[in-house]
Amino acid sequence: MGFYDTFRYTIAPPILLVTTTLGVQFLAVVGGHDGTSFSVFGDAASWAVVAVFMLWALLSLWVPSKQFNGPITSFGYTPRYSANGFQYFCVSFVVFMALLWKWPGIAELLVDRFPQILAVCNIAAFILCIFLLVKGKVTPQSSEVVEPMPLTYEFYRGMEVHPRLLGVDVKQLTNCRFGLMAWLLLVTAFCVVGWMRNGVTVAHGVVAILQIIYLAKFYLWETGYFDTLDITLDRAGYYICWGCMVWVPAFYTYSSYYLVANKPVISDAFALVILLVGLSAIAMNYRIDWEKEYFRKHDGNCHLWGRKVSYIEATYESSTGMRRSKLLTSGLWGIARKLNYVFEILAATCWCLPGLGLGIWPFLYAIFLTVLLVHRVFRDEEKCSAKYGQYWKEYCKVVPYRMIPGIF
Ligand code: NDP
Repeated sequence: MGFYDTFRYTIAPPILLVTTTLGVQFLAVVGGHDGTSFSVFGDAASWAVVAVFMLWALLSLWVPSKQFNGPITSFGYTPRYSANGFQYFCVSFVVFMALLWKWPGIAELLVDRFPQILAVCNIAAFILCIFLLVKGKVTPQSSEVVEPMPLTYEFYRGMEVHPRLLGVDVKQLTNCRFGLMAWLLLVTAFCVVGWMRNGVTVAHGVVAILQIIYLAKFYLWETGYFDTLDITLDRAGYYICWGCMVWVPAFYTYSSYYLVANKPVISDAFALVILLVGLSAIAMNYRIDWEKEYFRKHDGNCHLWGRKVSYIEATYESSTGMRRSKLLTSGLWGIARKLNYVFEILAATCWCLPGLGLGIWPFLYAIFLTVLLVHRVFRDEEKCSAKYGQYWKEYCKVVPYRMIPGIF
């Protein structure tokens, strides 16, 4: 193993692990009010919050519901998911609002104990990832043959693509039911406390509304998420499970959290313009994802924007033989290959913008997301190029730009 591989597989994972774990705690203290403190092991209240919330997330997957089959893996496994995401969103939001109505102190508890809650999430995510590592090595549930790697890398990357635990799919639990719901409830609580402490500001309302609508859109489309890289490519390990259990609640909510201790300074009129642009960006992002889902569901026998769709017919090899697929080249997918990422970044920038005038902190999420998605463009292209070969090249000729026509 050369130096690059040693660094990548053995040295980098523990460095990332320590810096990101401590990083979220640091951000929570920096963004909090004067005197915000944290303890490495959390406190009783923060353990109670995380335990109740995890139970609620599990419950949503245990209740009988319609099932959805995810895409079959290259080793012939079809993952099964609960298809009740939007119901989970609605019930959770209504119950949380009712709780806040009766006991607004809950929102204050979430703000004041944010660092402690993250400490508990950190510990819970570590325990889960260690368990997943051992389970994946000792009793893997699929027939997939995974090449052994250094242990630190296996922990970071994860072992299995679709492990199940307590009768549920682990990534549906950590990504969809824990991380994204924590994001929703936290931004709601942060807005309520921001209004309680700073007076009602349109700016803080806009930050919350945009994210609540974005998350409603996610839950409406949850079954489409099971076809994305997070689910089909990433293994359940520190990268994705810690990412969703800790990084999402800590970092994705940060613009909202920051505005509690730092009153927004932008005008109401500007905030309303941001709201309109943000809503349009969310609608466009949804529409683009929907077009692909609709096209795949109808196997290309459909119309978009009043015209019959055009596509490239592709074949690829899997361990169960040759398969067929189609790559859409019309509608919004005919403009650029990752136009959905452009609107994702625009929407995120819109819910960071109400923090304008308060330094770089409220913009950290938009900056991070831009880096993440540009990197993801290349990750996805690598995957698609390996999968589709000449057909992918043909597709790139028909739709030559990645994100912005004429530029990139
Ligand atoms: P895409 O929705 O672009 O899906 C990529 C996959 O779609 C490819 O791997 C390929 O899979 C298939 N595909 C690519 N081009 C075509 C085409 N022309 N026609 C048909 N199928 C095609 O990316 P993501 O899964 O990354 O993102 C999904 C959503 O999630 C987006 O809205 C994105 O913005 C959002 N997102 C948000 C993040 C956040 O942190 N906020 C992070 C990542 C994504 P196949 O093998 O099936 O052909």
